[in-house]
Amino acid sequence: QAAPGVRTLSPYVPGRPESEIKREYGLAEVIKLASNENPLGPSPLGLAAAQAALAEIARYPDGNGFELKRALAAKYGVETARITLGAGSNDILDLVARAFLTPGDEAVYSDHAFAVYPIATQTAGGRGVSVPALPAGHAMAYGHDLAAMRAAIGSRTKVVFIANPNNPTGTWLAPAELEGFLRELPEHVVVVLDEAYVEYMAPEQVAPSLAWLERHPNLVVSRTFSKAYGLAGLRVGYAFAHPQVTDLLNRARMPFNVSLPALAAATAALDDTAFIARSVELNRAGMRQLQDGLRALGLGWLPSAGNFLCVNVGRSGRQVFQALLPRGVILRPVDNYALPDFLRITVGSERENAVCLRALAEVLAA
Ligand code: PMP
Repeated sequence: QAAPGVRTLSPYVPGRPESEIKREYGLAEVIKLASNENPLGPSPLGLAAAQAALAEIARYPDGNGFELKRALAAKYGVETARITLGAGSNDILDLVARAFLTPGDEAVYSDHAFAVYPIATQTAGGRGVSVPALPAGHAMAYGHDLAAMRAAIGSRTKVVFIANPNNPTGTWLAPAELEGFLRELPEHVVVVLDEAYVEYMAPEQVAPSLAWLERHPNLVVSRTFSKAYGLAGLRVGYAFAHPQVTDLLNRARMPFNVSLPALAAATAALDDTAFIARSVELNRAGMRQLQDGLRALGLGWLPSAGNFLCVNVGRSGRQVFQALLPRGVILRPVDNYALPDFLRITVGSERENAVCLRALAEVLAA
């Protein structure tokens, strides 16, 4: 008999592999804008380091991730005692849940928030408290309602998950609003500020979250190499937190959770500022291209600070998704996020965006 929290979870359904879609529809090429990956591929410095590291894989990786932590510490000015490494930032979210939730404890998050929060919470035996999002009409409709989240915190609440920006909505929180939330937070609650897309945010959108670490010992800032760095397949994420919180996360962490090629690639990719700049610029241009195309189709979308757009297709997003498959375009339906009329589109290359828009126009005209 499985644990109750696991039995009542709905499975996370990842996108079907491109190879399967190609076979099913007899397609030579598919365009996948479904997982918020980097259309430029991996950071070249990261790729070269991963390839070189393959010669060493008879050995275990450095279980403390010394080099990567040192590189992160140098880049962000945060001591290594405040850094935890994970197999993707999903692993970080899971570590926080396992380290801080015991059965009966609550984790608070928002409706339409990233799907891993309930998985991490319930697998740890915790109870997820999903808080209604900001209402239609609000500039950040479907985004996190921090006042409502604050009100949902009770004596059993041990963890709060905040995605900034959130996936799949793309909505983000003003730095001042976040800071106010942190200031009011009871001491017994750990807040995870999930900044998986931080590299894509405009400078004025980015919260000075690392500067807050000193004042807020219960803050965990999680980030990833999966998005802007283009290393999703290697699985590397990290968290910045108070040394005592970091110590607890590292006790809960499985030894060798980050693989040897992943550590090498991430360490090298951190120096690849030219690649990040190119990725951010491509995203900026692609975002404009998609929005222009969607506007021409008469479609609306939620404001996004990430590398994706949550588009209101005005009908079943899953049906539009299905109709796009034979045309070789894979997007992400978000009905599992209680957004049945939306589709999430990852910003791709100029050509991918154009193909996606054309296919979408055909499907919506049919
Ligand atoms: N947080 C958010 C908001 C995300 O969208 C994602 C990726 N889907 C993650 C965390 C986890 O990504 P990864 O485990 O690849 O770092």
